[in-house]
Amino acid sequence: MTKERPTFPLKLDALESKKNLANRAVPATPSVNARANAPKKLDNPARAVGTSAQTFESPSGLGLDSSTVREHMVRKLAQQGIEDNVVLSAMLSVERHRFVDTALVNQAYEDTSLPIGLGQTISKPNVVARMIELLRQGKNLSADGKLGRVMEIGTGCGYQAAVLSHLCQEVYSIERLKGLFERAKENLRPLRVPNLHLLFGDGMLGYEQGAPYSGIIAAAGGENIPQSWLNQLAVGGRIVAPVATGARTQALIVVDKTENGFENAYLEAVNFVPLKSGIN
Ligand code: SAH
Repeated sequence: MTKERPTFPLKLDALESKKNLANRAVPATPSVNARANAPKKLDNPARAVGTSAQTFESPSGLGLDSSTVREHMVRKLAQQGIEDNVVLSAMLSVERHRFVDTALVNQAYEDTSLPIGLGQTISKPNVVARMIELLRQGKNLSADGKLGRVMEIGTGCGYQAAVLSHLCQEVYSIERLKGLFERAKENLRPLRVPNLHLLFGDGMLGYEQGAPYSGIIAAAGGENIPQSWLNQLAVGGRIVAPVATGARTQALIVVDKTENGFENAYLEAVNFVPLKSGIN
């Protein structure tokens, strides 16, 4: 079954007849012991080889070309202080409107987080850019200027994973909600991203098979950084994640793994959905 892709911008009458993910039934999953259920590799994630990850197809717009709006978004990101051109150019390439609900397509390039169903949200473009920029400022870039293997916790709709796929040799992205894992698969399938591996499982356990990682990035915030992430990070690697700083407050934390141990830095306050254990 293929999901109808939103065109950009949408006609209002077309919006009425389309359903939000929030209204869709979540596929039932058997209850399992989360620990025994380490993330499974998607059946042949690299199957869709063919087009390079850099050649995302253009939408068939009904007026405005989405690339114009994306350029505007990227200019704004630069004005807001994002300086890494490699990040800006990846954000220019990935069509964010493909990852949001049909009814929200017209807000896809605003600097706002948006609901993606099941109580979760796609992060603001500014936060995505900022976190990836921080990830690239570690001592972890390969000779080709890319990050090596990167683990993302919280695939959500797959947008950030798609951006990461431009900047990393391999991306392992884990989602604990089956409904969103399936949605990300649908969103990403037409983009044919051979270096992106979608995994269904509890990201708090990490994904040992892809380790060691040059970068780990989380889109959900917990009380602290799980030990598995620290273990699975390469020496020279960097974690960028939201963590709790109080009962209702979070900040970004950057953790660098050095030969002598870990170095932490707390940065600005953020507001992410909670990091939860187990799968659903
Ligand atoms: N990067 C995403 C943002 C999704 S919101 C995007 O571009 O859309 C954060 C996601 O983290 C949610 O989908 C939530 O289900 C997921 N999440 C929370 N705890 C998790 C865990 N332990 N393992 C994997 N995913 C988790």
